[in-house]
Amino acid sequence: MKIRGAVLHAPRDVRYEEREAPKILQPTDALIRISAACVCGSDLWPYRGINPVTEPTPMGHEYCGIVEEVGRSVTSVRPGQFVIGSFFASDNTCAHCRYGYQTSCQNAVPVSGAQASLLRVPLADGTLVATPGIPSDDLIPSLLTLSDVMGTGWFAAEAANVRPGSTVVVVGDGAVGLHGVLSAKQMGAERIIAMSRHAPRQKLAREFGATEIVTERGDEGVDRILEVTGGTGADSVLECVGTAESMMQAIRSTRPGGSVGYVGVPHGVELDGQDLFFSHVRLLGGPAPVRRFLPYLIELVWDRKIDPGKVFDLTLPLSEVAEGYRAMDERRAIKTLLRP
Ligand SMILES: [Zn+2]
Repeated sequence: MKIRGAVLHAPRDVRYEEREAPKILQPTDALIRISAACVCGSDLWPYRGINPVTEPTPMGHEYCGIVEEVGRSVTSVRPGQFVIGSFFASDNTCAHCRYGYQTSCQNAVPVSGAQASLLRVPLADGTLVATPGIPSDDLIPSLLTLSDVMGTGWFAAEAANVRPGSTVVVVGDGAVGLHGVLSAKQMGAERIIAMSRHAPRQKLAREFGATEIVTERGDEGVDRILEVTGGTGADSVLECVGTAESMMQAIRSTRPGGSVGYVGVPHGVELDGQDLFFSHVRLLGGPAPVRRFLPYLIELVWDRKIDPGKVFDLTLPLSEVAEGYRAMDERRAIKTLLRP
C-alpha cells in the first residue's frame, strides 16, 4: 500500500509525493489516520538549509487523528479513538518520564513523517492520549496544537515560573510565543508583555491575553522592558526564538531572582559565564515534555476554555504543502494547517 505525504529533498524543495505506507513494526506501535497536521517553525530550519538536508526526508512531527491499528502489546489506546501525541515518543514509565520530562525519556524516539495520511507512532501506550470522544471538526485545530506548539508554549511559561500576579515577557511572536502568552494568561499572570513588530501577531497576542506590546528588540528591547517594569525587569521571561540575540534579550529582561523558560531551538547561542553569573537568573528550557501536559490541555480545549487553534491563519489540503512552507517562510502565515 502507498500513501502520499510531504518529503523535503533540498532547501526550499518540499514535495507531496507517494511513498510506502507505514506499518506496525513493533508490538508497541500504533498507526494513526491523520486528521490534521501542520508546518512547525522548526521545519523551517532544514527548509531554509540552515540544518543540512542529506537525503529525501519525510516531514512533520505534529499530529492528531484516529487510531487505525495497534501492535499486540498496546493496551491504552484502541482503533477508532481520536488521539494526540508528542513529537517525541516516550514510554512514560522510566525515571525521567516519571519526573515529567518525557522528551528526555530513556527510550525516546523522534516522531517524523506526520505530514501524510498515515503515521506510525512508536511506544503508543506512553505517547498517545485519547480525547473523551470523537471531536467536532472545529476543535481539531486546537487539539492539533497540543502535539507541539501549545504544549511548548505551556512549558515555556511553566519553566519561567509564571505565577498568579507575575509580570511576564514573551520574546518571539511565532505560534509558540503566542501560545506562551495564552499559557501565561491561564496561569494567572497579571502583566504579559509580548515582543512583536507584526500587526496581525500583535492582535492575536492581545486576544490571547497580552496586556502590552513592545516592538523594539535587542538592546533597545531590553531598555524598553526595563523602562516599563520600573527598572527591575520581569519576573518571568519566555524565550521562544532560539537565536543569540533573543536569548540574551530574554536573560537581560529578567529581574534578579527571576526565571527564563527557553524553548526556541538554539542556533548559534553561546552564553558568557560571567554575564550569566551576575544576572542572578534561573534558566530552564529544552524540548518541551508536551506529553506531561496533554491530559490537562485536552480538557481545557474540550471544555472550550482555550482556543489555541487560532494560530492557524492558513489551511491547505496536504497536496499543497509546498505553498504551506512558502507562506510560513515568507512570514505570510503564522502557521499552516494541513488536511490530508
Ligand atoms: Zn521514559
